[in-house]
Amino acid sequence: MLARIAGFLLFIFCLGLPAAIITLGQATSVISSAAFTYPENLSGAEAEEEIAEIDAEPNGQKQTTLLPANRDRDLRKFPYPYGAMFAFASDIDDTTPREFAMYHRFLNTKEMTPAGPGLGLDVGDTMWVYMGNNVYPKVDYKGESVEAVMTFNRYLDPKSFKNAKLLKHYFDAGWVDGLHSFGDFIRKDPKDVVFSRELAVAAWENLNQAGIHPVYWINHGNEANKQNFGGYHPLKFTRYQAGDDPKSPYYHTDITIRNGVRFVWNSVGEDQFGQDSPIFPIQLRDGQKIWGFHRYTHEVVNGKIDWAWSADDGDFYRFLTKERLEQLIANKQYCIFAQHFGGSTSEFPFIFAKDVEALRTLADYHHSGKILVARTSRLLNYSVAQQFVHYVTAQRNGRTVIAIKSIQDPLFGKQEVTIDKVRGLTFYVDDPQNAKIVINRRAVPKEEIQINPPDETGRPSIGIKWFAQDSKDYSLNAPAE
Ligand SMILES: [Zn+2]
Repeated sequence: MLARIAGFLLFIFCLGLPAAIITLGQATSVISSAAFTYPENLSGAEAEEEIAEIDAEPNGQKQTTLLPANRDRDLRKFPYPYGAMFAFASDIDDTTPREFAMYHRFLNTKEMTPAGPGLGLDVGDTMWVYMGNNVYPKVDYKGESVEAVMTFNRYLDPKSFKNAKLLKHYFDAGWVDGLHSFGDFIRKDPKDVVFSRELAVAAWENLNQAGIHPVYWINHGNEANKQNFGGYHPLKFTRYQAGDDPKSPYYHTDITIRNGVRFVWNSVGEDQFGQDSPIFPIQLRDGQKIWGFHRYTHEVVNGKIDWAWSADDGDFYRFLTKERLEQLIANKQYCIFAQHFGGSTSEFPFIFAKDVEALRTLADYHHSGKILVARTSRLLNYSVAQQFVHYVTAQRNGRTVIAIKSIQDPLFGKQEVTIDKVRGLTFYVDDPQNAKIVINRRAVPKEEIQINPPDETGRPSIGIKWFAQDSKDYSLNAPAE
């Protein structure tokens, strides 16, 4: 019973009144993807330039054929051999450094834990900058409260640092890759708002100084969390959201987007496990556009909401089933699964054998090459690259050259290509042994290239290798705070 209440509190913390949110559906701020154009074939002049680049390489004869880009024909949806992609998107609510180290050791490493050997998965997390909560929930198993929660600054003081070094360490390790908004601003009285634009300005100054550059944002909490944005609707519960309202003292999306946030979870929970695309465009009230992303948060059972996003109430395994993973592959889909890994007040969050078994099944799907489990930022960036990469394919003397030109993000404009921005991109070619991929006029080094045999379509492919597996236990050398 206690565990059920904990789960209940979590939805209050992260969403507010769920029914109101769920009926919101497509908020007025969500724009149709028909509103933007996909990259087209290169113009004649650009094509000439590409041929010149390819010609400039050694061993060239003169006859080059430029193949018109055909995204459906050329691009594999996921890196070979995977048939789907999956990320946990974890809200950092009520997480102490002890809990964070504990559950990431189980999820990310192969070290021994109370639930057996770790899973060795790439699981990121979100972070908080400030702590403004005056409800004082119990957050860990010894009865700790908000003073023990991992935050960059101490309470609301931008000049006093709490876990700044620790968070920088975990950001560099990849265990933190997103913001759960600027902090926890939940108040007993939702009208008693303690967030301000000044805090947002100081947060970005401090994060930049530390070299922490999160690319996605997940809204948090009740109506006192005015910093939330992306789901505003004048007639719905989300009317409190003010982060993107230039007339509000809580406005910050100008600086937040300028500092590199490209994706937002806008508080709209969803019961759809798999998505063809994890992202959709949102028009903010300040005129800017940003990618919204889908998160699987709950099931509706007999008209009631059954939250999937807490790990400690004994029913996690019902949401992460083998059937769903199989369906994800059959439908070639993405899943971003919402969680509150640190929301537990148990000594270790994965205390039920069936839950651990469900997580081990997911890990098996990853390690056997069926579903690529990746941190949220990597999944989101990959989906943008896969959908909007601008490339040209040329053939000469039986060899194929694929030149990756740019990522033409329809919301943020043309992005220059670095290898990490296009990792995993996989192109079908007739003879991958005789193919190469060129980025910025240079062939991608052999050690970064992956040659693939025919897949389920019968076609072989060539791709840029995904990020190397990293199951190091970064909690071992973590700063004390
Ligand atoms: Zn939250």
